[in-house]
Amino acid sequence: MGCATILPSVILKKTDMKKSRKTPTDNKNNSAVQKIDIIQKKPRNVAVNTQLLLFALSAGRCEICNESVISDIRTGTDIVWGEKAHIYAFNPGGARTDLDKTYLNNVHNLLLACPNCHEKIDKKALEHIYTAEFLKDIKKRHEARVEIATSIGEERKTKVIKMVANINNERVTTDSKVIYEALLNERRIPSDRNFCEIDFSAISGQNTQEYWKQKSAEIEDALQTFYQEASRDHVEHSSIFAIGPMPLLMHLGSKLNNKISTDLFQRHKDGESWKWKEEESKAQYSFRTIQKGKDPSKVAMLISISGFIDTSKLPTHVDEEFSVYELFLDPKPNYNCIRAKEDLQEFEKNFTSAISEIKNNLEGIDQIEMFPAVPAPVAIICGRSLNKNSDPQIRVFNTSLKEPFQYSLTINQ
Ligand SMILES: [Zn+2]
Repeated sequence: MGCATILPSVILKKTDMKKSRKTPTDNKNNSAVQKIDIIQKKPRNVAVNTQLLLFALSAGRCEICNESVISDIRTGTDIVWGEKAHIYAFNPGGARTDLDKTYLNNVHNLLLACPNCHEKIDKKALEHIYTAEFLKDIKKRHEARVEIATSIGEERKTKVIKMVANINNERVTTDSKVIYEALLNERRIPSDRNFCEIDFSAISGQNTQEYWKQKSAEIEDALQTFYQEASRDHVEHSSIFAIGPMPLLMHLGSKLNNKISTDLFQRHKDGESWKWKEEESKAQYSFRTIQKGKDPSKVAMLISISGFIDTSKLPTHVDEEFSVYELFLDPKPNYNCIRAKEDLQEFEKNFTSAISEIKNNLEGIDQIEMFPAVPAPVAIICGRSLNKNSDPQIRVFNTSLKEPFQYSLTINQ
């Protein structure tokens, strides 16, 4: 579309907008701007430069609900349907009146708004909700967000992997907006809108050897494509939004390319947020020996972070021959323990030193049987932290719905 169609001086009449709200949606071609009834007018003498400034400061989004007002999201059509809403009313008797009119059409008194929000905030009956202070604050926060988002340069781009999985028998996928928010919090922007998606939601045959094998292969294929694209697009950073079965996340971690730095994200329990919390790291980890075994080649490692591991659920072959160690959240495991990025870094340190200690205690050990109860990014760290040349291979056991642990797959082979 040409620029002329998005000049802010070309606006929809409010009444026309009501009638035409369906029009852009119904239009299948890109000529909706020409087909809808638009008027050219000098809207309440707001200077053209002020209008341009308002559209720029708000990035063409309603400053109240954040919907784009320079395109129709359903058809992708370019169309300006934003309106210039006054914080202090332009008309006497309107919402939020102020005696000093000299600055009314100043950009500081204007909000870019979609017709819905504009109508709502201008209702006299809602003036006690949409106070001038409330609207000034919402404008300030929206424009600050635009400023922060647009200040992030190319060097902060990241390529995103997101996972889909079943949680409590429900298919859980993460909305792009939620991912953008978490990335923005880290001053990162996605390198493209098409995220690499790894789907763990199919549960048929789960916990069979065939299932683990097939899913492991899918992860490897997905990562291969992911890194090829990253290299082609010169992206040197990746971000992983992880959910899914622990053995597969560990496998994924073990296959991550160390040449690209990777940030991990955690789906927090409080709602749908994936943003790292701005709080001090609180998680403390400890390592202990539960049992010293008779056979120095047999070792089991429990990782109790999100929940306790009931040793009675361990497979029967883990007998007195085994040395059994536990890395645990101290004083007690809980699901909501990983809140700040530092909690994750602290785990990584403790995991690496626990593996070293096992290697020191049991010289020549070439295999560890691992029983994890951990949050998703922690599982990835377990796989990622292993040194392929010097660390033992890990036989990962899985449990679901409090069933006994079963062998799933081996990583770091
Ligand atoms: Zn709105």
